[in-house]
Amino acid sequence: PDVVSKIAAGEVIERPGSAVKELLENSLDAGAGSIIVDVAEGGRDLVRIVDDGHGIPREELPLAVAAHATSKLIGADDLFRIRSFGFRGEALNAIAGVSDFTIRSRPEEQEVGALLEVHHGHPDDVRDTACPRGTQIEIRNLFASVPVRRKFLKSKQTEFGHVAEAMIRTALANPDVGFRLVHNERVVHDRPRTASLRETIGVFFGDRLADKLVPIDAERDGIRLHGFVGDPSLDRPNSRGQYLFVNRRYIRDRSLSHAISEAFRGLLMTGRYPVAFLFFEMPSDQVDVNVHPTKIEVRFENPHQMYSHLLASIRNEFLSSDL
Ligand code: ADP
Ligand code: MG
Repeated sequence: PDVVSKIAAGEVIERPGSAVKELLENSLDAGAGSIIVDVAEGGRDLVRIVDDGHGIPREELPLAVAAHATSKLIGADDLFRIRSFGFRGEALNAIAGVSDFTIRSRPEEQEVGALLEVHHGHPDDVRDTACPRGTQIEIRNLFASVPVRRKFLKSKQTEFGHVAEAMIRTALANPDVGFRLVHNERVVHDRPRTASLRETIGVFFGDRLADKLVPIDAERDGIRLHGFVGDPSLDRPNSRGQYLFVNRRYIRDRSLSHAISEAFRGLLMTGRYPVAFLFFEMPSDQVDVNVHPTKIEVRFENPHQMYSHLLASIRNEFLSSDL
């Protein structure tokens, strides 16, 4: 199981930010209405996530951190499966295998909370603890037991950037949930659950940028595209500056990014790299999300249709607005 969790950790968890991404997904799956991410030193020393979701019953706590069906691993087929499909039911196990891990949880109907510590794969006994409804997870000393991996962590600013990025993507995709990000005891972002998309962009990237964005909302062939785009003269808020989502999942796609740039061609705007926050809502059988283990890349049934829908929708908006 040690080998399993270390391989698993390599595939799913490469840095504090990837742990945060997994934990955020779990909190959302648990129906959380508010999630706090609190890290120290970019997450190298501490990552803490607190949610108000449905919690984990005391007797299930050891299961939540146990390896699921993966103790059989080692054959080449299994490795292929890992690379192709990623892990289900392995995130907590993978994280707890390479950190000092504490989970506290209390479902509504349980009077006392339960606490479980796992030290680099070795679980203690479950104990009682006082805790509010929901789940709290703390990860300390990530990769202390896997020095080669610890060595690959970057500066605390860089690691914090990845943590923030994971939270921003999740918050953009989940408008009904409140997100707060704390770094070294300072509140960095606080997005209330009632914020609009424009307000959300303002929280994360500043109102000056958010105020200048142009709304897009267009439907074609059963695919709805909505969100905001900035003309290419606007400064990018970070090296990426483009956030694309398909059915509320963050994705990256070279062809779609190209369509965004292409939409501004010939419009006489000082060209750089347009800022965009765009959401596609489409039938799930027209997109394959299992192409990449971390599911950032997807495959569309009809990529040309997506490309031209995106290009035309942006062009229409900017041709008709007087910029
Ligand atoms: P998966 O999410 O694929 O099931 P994980 O290792 O991420 O696998 O989580 C294992 C299990 O622990 C989940 O299936 C869920 O039952 C429970 N769990 C994890 N995080 C939370 C949370 N924040 N709230 C409630 N249950 C959780
Ligand atoms: Mg999970």
